[in-house]
Amino acid sequence: MAILAIRIYPDPVLRTRGAEVTAFDERLARLVADMVETMHAAPGVGLAAPQVGVSQRVAVVDVSAGAEPGGVHVLVNPRLVERGGLESDVEGCLSLPGITDKVERPTAIKVVAQDARGEAFELPAEGFLARALCHEIDHLDGILFVDHLRGLRRERIKRQLKKLAEPVEVRP
Ligand SMILES: [Zn+2]
Repeated sequence: MAILAIRIYPDPVLRTRGAEVTAFDERLARLVADMVETMHAAPGVGLAAPQVGVSQRVAVVDVSAGAEPGGVHVLVNPRLVERGGLESDVEGCLSLPGITDKVERPTAIKVVAQDARGEAFELPAEGFLARALCHEIDHLDGILFVDHLRGLRRERIKRQLKKLAEPVEVRP
């Protein structure tokens, strides 16, 4: 396993829609294992393949951040098939360091996806797990959490994003 480099905004791969996974092979298994290791090392509670430069529909989520064995959810070609309720809570993103804000998300969802072997499964989720899943599935469509902000919050975030996109000053 290896820790992969996390792509930071405004890397264009973060704005690219991920391709459907069709080959459930050794390469996919390695990508998933590396993504889990990268997520836990960050540490983060979720990671999508575009965030490590792979434009494919693969995401991993672990709201226990590695504390619970079996806490890792691997989602290949995930789809949100049910959503209910609405709740606003704070989110951040490994690709947007230093930026957090409140985002509205459904409180209860159902996701259908495949595992790394191509086996289909359903995952009902509530609360923080539902939020993390929505955030990661968004990444697969090139959507970042800041895209959900409106009004004053959006204006404030725009300034922060502009700062993040500025080239890093190299000092002698
Ligand atoms: Zn993110």
